[in-house]
Amino acid sequence: MKNCCIFSCTTAWEAVRSSSFEAVEEFGGEGEGYSWSDGCKKLLRCKNCGALFLNYRMKFLAMGYSSDDISYSYYLPVSNRVEAIEYMNKFMESGRLSDSYDKIKIWFDGAKWCWNK
Ligand SMILES: [Zn+2]
Repeated sequence: MKNCCIFSCTTAWEAVRSSSFEAVEEFGGEGEGYSWSDGCKKLLRCKNCGALFLNYRMKFLAMGYSSDDISYSYYLPVSNRVEAIEYMNKFMESGRLSDSYDKIKIWFDGAKWCWNK
């Protein structure tokens, strides 16, 4: 799998800022039964190079001790739709997709954009 062109940027923040994605498919929906309110998952395609990403966002609601909701966002490169669904199913089982995904990725940790490039 060839890495997306956004990984040629100097920083993760720059990569996200310069990225241009189109949604190929939305896997939905609210994360019922989970502590997060938005389990939105999408298959995205880079408009520049065609690389595919599984994108998922989670939002933890403010729990009283904090006035801010915390959002996390992950961009996980995948070879194809089937691979995206495999990772998504793993996530639904464990809620810890980012731990089991060991390839290059970009994520927002609630404060800043990070990557493991
Ligand atoms: Zn690209």
